[in-house]
Amino acid sequence: PPSKLQYRRVMLKLSGEALQGGMGFGVDPKVLTAVAREVGTAAKQGVEVAVVVGGGNYFRGASAWDGLERATADYVGMLATCMNALMLQSALEKQGVATRVQTAIEMKEIAEPYIRRRAIRHLEKGRVVIFGAGTGAPFFSTDTAAALRGAELDVDVFMKATKVDGVFDCDPAKNPDAKMLKRLQYSDVMIQNLRVMDETAITLCKENDIPVVVFNLYTPGNIMRALCGDLNVGTTIC
Ligand code: UDP
Repeated sequence: PPSKLQYRRVMLKLSGEALQGGMGFGVDPKVLTAVAREVGTAAKQGVEVAVVVGGGNYFRGASAWDGLERATADYVGMLATCMNALMLQSALEKQGVATRVQTAIEMKEIAEPYIRRRAIRHLEKGRVVIFGAGTGAPFFSTDTAAALRGAELDVDVFMKATKVDGVFDCDPAKNPDAKMLKRLQYSDVMIQNLRVMDETAITLCKENDIPVVVFNLYTPGNIMRALCGDLNVGTTIC
């Protein structure tokens, strides 16, 4: 019920890799549907949801081959995020949730261009707004795009959906004794190099006082719990 909502407006960052699920490449329809269902539930309860999607399931500028100019590779990466944005839009609308896609690189046959005040209006009307093409500039990440749009849209929290439960003191994939940290400061992340997100993104969050919640996308119900302000979910950085 709306009275229990802790957040008015949230930024949800979904990496491309998260949408990939069990597939080696592209999007796993099962994951996409599950994500759409939970985002839809939160939106129907009255949380204003902005989503930035990554593109790593298709292309990452930094991992392109030698000889492909970095800026060009990054533009390809940004186009990849737009494919994810369109598929997420379709999955959400299947759940009966009104959505808009806005892209930082204009492609107006398939999506609106990014217009800040228009995005805010959509959110106020209860539409989930999905942002494609990152910041529209090479040499940035979609985490930074999410922090930037989050600051512009004055969100209450930055939700970073990952494959792990939160931030650990060392890599949980390599170390069975890895301990999850429930609460951290921005400076812990920056100084200890905990690899939560790149420095540009975390700096933007810090400078704009946006708390970051890192949580596991694959635990059923987690997205909804996180969006609705359940503090037991994941690691909070503030
Ligand atoms: N990218 C970019 N500028 C941005 C956002 C993304 O150049 O503002 C490019 C970059 O090459 C990146 C790719 O798009 O590798 C896909 O985004 P990202 O790696 O952040 O996706 P994720 O890891 O979240 O799937």
